[in-house]
Amino acid sequence: LSINQLEEARRALEAPLFADVAGDVDVSFEFFPPKSEAMEKTLWDSMATLAPLGPRFVSVTYGAGGSTRERTHATVARIARETNIPAAAHLTCVEATKAEIDAVAEEYWAAGVRHIVALRGDPPTVGARYAAHPGGYENAAALVEGLRRLHPFEISVACYPECHPDSGDAAIDLDNLKRKMDAGATRAISQFFFSPDVFFRYRDAVAAAGIDAEIVPGIMPVSNFAAVQRMSKMCGTDVPAWMGRLFTGLDDLPGARQLVSATLAAELCRKLYAGGVKQFHFYTLNRAELSFAICHLLGVRATPEVALAAA
Ligand code: FAD
Repeated sequence: LSINQLEEARRALEAPLFADVAGDVDVSFEFFPPKSEAMEKTLWDSMATLAPLGPRFVSVTYGAGGSTRERTHATVARIARETNIPAAAHLTCVEATKAEIDAVAEEYWAAGVRHIVALRGDPPTVGARYAAHPGGYENAAALVEGLRRLHPFEISVACYPECHPDSGDAAIDLDNLKRKMDAGATRAISQFFFSPDVFFRYRDAVAAAGIDAEIVPGIMPVSNFAAVQRMSKMCGTDVPAWMGRLFTGLDDLPGARQLVSATLAAELCRKLYAGGVKQFHFYTLNRAELSFAICHLLGVRATPEVALAAA
């Protein structure tokens, strides 16, 4: 950063909370495919709340081992059909041949879906070492290459500010990201993290590695601290001790927990914004309130014309 940029960031951080945000940010939202009718209703209520914020895309995850293949497809296809928000489908390489994965991608193309979040995925047994399917794509970079051969999809991939647990070190991890970009991805969405410095250091390292693609921070508003702790352990995200202290004693106080959660996520986004970040991807867990509130604080306002066509 130049002296001017540092000075600008300092001024932004010292300004009254959120006084300096201009709404000049792009947001996207991630959902998971619902398992029941009740969950389906929650998802579509959330979608109806978040859609008027004009996300540049919403994405739908793909369960381990393709376990949500039909549900992911149904959800993405419904978004494409019933809303005017670009829908992105997550797709993994786990336990499937190239032909099977290609067939899923073809179904998306036929349904009008033009954006894939291409991932390797994790082994179905938690803690097991990843082994590629003998006839499958070896990793996310190979999947990106395969998708590119099929159609001119827009392709996003995953990246890891705190290093993927399977990477020996940060340099190996960055090499892998570079391979994914060189194969044709245009954007990387980050694993969630809780310290803005972690993201800024990573952004610098990515630039130093010669990768000029968009690196979008993945923001996880913490509504269930114990669950986030478990997830963080598996994916190598550091959970600062002070965060644990902030959630202690709130197990039976959902309202207070929600306020603490929103405060932490908003503060993280404010610091990222002060450091020049203009794109945010929210892990919504299919709930709208926290993501909506944080977007609102960042100056993003509803525009009725982007509301759900079917709402
Ligand atoms: P890759 O980029 O292929 O790499 C994974 C690791 O393997 C890296 O450490 C890399 O360095 C190493 N590696 C890769 N290729 C090689 C090689 N040739 N030699 C040596 N090392 C290599 N999971 C799901 O199941 N469904 C989802 O919908 C989903 N969505 C996600 C969305 C985001 C934004 C993120 C950040 C993660 C998501 N995940 C999802 C989790 C993801 O599948 C796991 O993190 C998985 O362990 C790695 O996937 P990847 O695409 O990053 O893998």
